[in-house]
Amino acid sequence: MKTPRTTPSRLAKRAVYDEETIHAILDEGLFCTVSYVSDGEPRAIPTAYGREGNRLFIHGSVGSHFIRELENGGPVCLTVTLVDGLVLAKSGFSHSVNYRSVVVFARAEKVENGEEKVKALARITDQLVPGRWECLRPETESEVRKTTVLAFPLEEASAKVRTGGPNDEPEDLALPIWSGVIPVRTVRDQPQPDATSAGLPLPAHLA
Ligand SMILES: Cc1cc2nc3c(=O)[nH]c(=O)nc-3n(C[C@H](O)[C@H](O)[C@H](O)COP(=O)(O)OP(=O)(O)OC[C@H]3O[C@@H](n4cnc5c(N)ncnc54)[C@H](O)[C@@H]3O)c2cc1C
Repeated sequence: MKTPRTTPSRLAKRAVYDEETIHAILDEGLFCTVSYVSDGEPRAIPTAYGREGNRLFIHGSVGSHFIRELENGGPVCLTVTLVDGLVLAKSGFSHSVNYRSVVVFARAEKVENGEEKVKALARITDQLVPGRWECLRPETESEVRKTTVLAFPLEEASAKVRTGGPNDEPEDLALPIWSGVIPVRTVRDQPQPDATSAGLPLPAHLA
């Protein structure tokens, strides 16, 4: 949603607010950074998350200082960034990054309902490894009790996307300096079994 605080002052044309783009970026990320103010000072904590519909979930131990601060419902800013490329220009000034990023402003809502809480925990696990939750033993009541799940509505959110090559100054274009893009990807390598899994076949969701 476009609001005064989700409107960039620079290159606002790169900002988008449609749900489809915001959800696609969030669904590809592995972690978010949660920023908030504690005792008048800024804090930023990276953490895992999951999305279901128009809500983003994070989880943590009921004893976690960070989670207990957020659960009070104060204002929070969450970000997710995907880097797609390094943009090498002919001047340092024109270097850039190709990226897709999301900024969300929200307040935490504690998820108390047991069924909804377990569903959110499944989303967080599957965000890291899609299809993982289904093959795990069910969470025990005690594990669920010891975990706090917080939901953030994805209402006041913006995405920003940069694509393409460098935007060099016209007078620099003839300079004999290599320019272009180095694509960047997050790659999952071959899973490495631990000692208890040495004889087990790789499950379908990891193949
Ligand atoms: C990997 C990476 C590297 C970057 N490097 C630089 C850099 O070196 N220098 C630089 O100036 N900028 C950089 N940016 C862009 C930066 O994120 C800001 O978009 C940019 O600085 C414009 O700021 P602004 O003052 O217009 O935004 P502001 O006016 O401060 O932003 C207002 C609102 O616009 C929205 N917004 C702003 N930026 C983003 C974003 N990236 N994603 C989603 N929503 C956003 C938010 O809702 C924000 O609250 C980088 C971005 C990424 C992802």
